[in-house]
Amino acid sequence: MALDRFGRDIHYLRISLTDRCNLRCVYCMPEDMQFRPRKELMQDDELLHLVRLFTELGFHKFRLTGGEPTVRANIVELVRGIARAPGVRSLSMTTNGLLLKQLARPLAEAGLQRVNVSIDSLDPAKFKRLTRWGDVQDVWEGIVEAEAAGLAPMKLNAVIVRGYNEDDVADLAALTLYHDWQVRFIEMMPFGEVAGFQQAQVVAAQEMRAKIEAALGALIPVDGGKLDGEARLYRLADGLGDVGFISSVTEPFCASCTRARLTADGKLRMCLLREYEVDLLTPLRQGATMDDLKALINKAVWHKPWGHGLAHNIVPMNRVMSEIGG
Ligand code: SAM
Repeated sequence: MALDRFGRDIHYLRISLTDRCNLRCVYCMPEDMQFRPRKELMQDDELLHLVRLFTELGFHKFRLTGGEPTVRANIVELVRGIARAPGVRSLSMTTNGLLLKQLARPLAEAGLQRVNVSIDSLDPAKFKRLTRWGDVQDVWEGIVEAEAAGLAPMKLNAVIVRGYNEDDVADLAALTLYHDWQVRFIEMMPFGEVAGFQQAQVVAAQEMRAKIEAALGALIPVDGGKLDGEARLYRLADGLGDVGFISSVTEPFCASCTRARLTADGKLRMCLLREYEVDLLTPLRQGATMDDLKALINKAVWHKPWGHGLAHNIVPMNRVMSEIGG
């Protein structure tokens, strides 16, 4: 078990498979984003080696993210390798869904268990404006295929941005009236050079809830309003699925955080919104032993920051979201 100095059991690793993406969402990265040379990114064998180390330290829940994880070369075989690693109990992916129409079945067959699909609006024009060039129909077809492939329970993520999609929350929440999906609304978080935009246009979860209730009626707390992972869940009367809110900005959930993040260039990042990182890839390439690497991971876990500093206006400047993975 990997414990931090506050007694939290850190067992959930989110791995960014690439910093590249086939979209350029306005809240995620600048339009002219420069990507890292591929040789700076973890290769398949390096990644599988690190996954084995993490499982030996007690990590058992893994999520693949990006950039966009489905654009990584050899993604199906990489998923198969991770799924087969002893100790991996939960394996899921966060994706924009564009390639799921082709990939959902092979990924499920390779051992992927669930997907979270990002979809910020059902309106094609608004979706395109938010993603700079995405077609929402492709995402929808990916969601349908993922569900058919058994990648369930289906979770949909929507980042809400003032001036872009704050009036779309009711349409998205209404999906839970007809599908047993979890539709989760995310407060926009600030990072690096896009932080100014993100802070100016953030919409608080409370405002999203009010808009949904005005359109669709009361949101009834699930499980007495307890957190489910990072989301607080509600249900509409007669709803089949849940409506969730991830309110990292206005109602942080740092006390219950059990996560660490591995960036595509092999840095272990212990809080999404803090700059603190420990390089694992360089020592691995320099021949560090399993024990050396485990010691580095244990030390990083021990020093996991208590929480983020947004309330004190501390914004991480060393990376934008697409380089960390969410
Ligand atoms: N490309 C994949 C996707 O679209 O889901 C995975 C990577 S993306 C960085 C992971 C999640 O982070 C997505 O749900 C995305 O909407 C969310 N995200 C990106 N930038 C964000 C920000 N500034 N604040 C909050 N969530 C953000």
